[in-house]
Amino acid sequence: MKINFKQLNRAEIYSCIHGLGQEPYRAEQIINWIYEKHAMSFDDMTNLPLTLRAELNNIALLSNINLIKNSTSADGTEKFLFQLDDGETIESVLIPNVRGKKLYTLCISSQIGCAMGCTFCETGKLGLTRNLRTHEIIDQILAVQRYLKKTALPSDTASSPQIDSDDPGRPIANIVFMGMGEPLHNFSEVMTSLSIITDMIGFSKRKVTLSTSGVVPGIRMLPDNGPLINLAVSLNATTDRTRNAIMPVNKKYPLNTLLQTCREFPLPSNRQITFEYVLLGGVNDYKDDALRLVRLLKGIRSKINLIPFNPSGSSSEYIKPDEQKVLEFHSTLLKAGMTVIVRKSSGNDISAACGQLRAAYI
Ligand code: SAH
Ligand code: SF4
Repeated sequence: MKINFKQLNRAEIYSCIHGLGQEPYRAEQIINWIYEKHAMSFDDMTNLPLTLRAELNNIALLSNINLIKNSTSADGTEKFLFQLDDGETIESVLIPNVRGKKLYTLCISSQIGCAMGCTFCETGKLGLTRNLRTHEIIDQILAVQRYLKKTALPSDTASSPQIDSDDPGRPIANIVFMGMGEPLHNFSEVMTSLSIITDMIGFSKRKVTLSTSGVVPGIRMLPDNGPLINLAVSLNATTDRTRNAIMPVNKKYPLNTLLQTCREFPLPSNRQITFEYVLLGGVNDYKDDALRLVRLLKGIRSKINLIPFNPSGSSSEYIKPDEQKVLEFHSTLLKAGMTVIVRKSSGNDISAACGQLRAAYI
């Protein structure tokens, strides 16, 4: 079977090129072609000798992902639907960071569907089809980068002088594993992806965030198995009773265990763990919840992202929280000295907001 170069980390590319009797600088050229110039095939790599290109074609391949649809929301959020080699589909979402500034956060998927079964989440309703391979995770980023280059206006470069002319306009500033799937249930492919993203694609570890529903063994394994990117934990409840009801993972790893694991997590200085808290109307949006949340997070350097529930097209047993309740919850946390933001719901009108991804190709 041919080796897919987008499955390989830097050391593996070097070793493969060494195996072909080539000098290390050839590996560097290939990495540059794949991750800087977005080459689609070895034949594109015009500074490699023809014989090497032929050899590479014999033993290796460069996968690509098929962008089959993209939709843009009124607020500028864009959703990308990709088809994979086996016909399955996945989604990624591109969210403008700050109005007026041409920087984006790209939200990528790590699985097709999800096995965790959180009762408020559309992806959870699908169940798990399969894990994504490293190259399928990486190709989401490369395909969106290519798309951004292609759709950049000349003015994008002019207004962003820090961007060199090889990479004009509309750059991705942050990558978040917050699309479809539980990344820690696809541990080894996600770890290789993190290595490629922070090393060869060149994102700072501070600009990459992995969000988990609270898979405790995976959180414990993170520091020794890959680059220490940011950790986000979807907490979503302040009692085991409520969390058991909305996130089945809590029955295996209850709040105490999860938060103790977070307390012991070797956080680099100046970093915090992000706790996501989806506010479900009448379920977990009470003042008592906010007060308990403060107590639970004691001793953890943390920031809280409040996410008002995003209802989806299909019927749901949950409702959005009252706006007043959201404000009160927010202010209770602020008064207690917590760092907290209410995450505005981007891309709601195109079902691209948190928890709405279903990747149906109709
Ligand atoms: N599986 C991972 C990452 C993907 S989910 C995790 O659960 O952390 C990304 C975020 O979307 C999670 O914080 C989740 O709680 C939130 N979410 C899921 N469904 C939602 C919905 N309908 N409305 C708002 N947020 C939702
Ligand atoms: Fe899976 Fe995250 Fe959705 Fe839960 S919230 S079902 S873990 S994608």
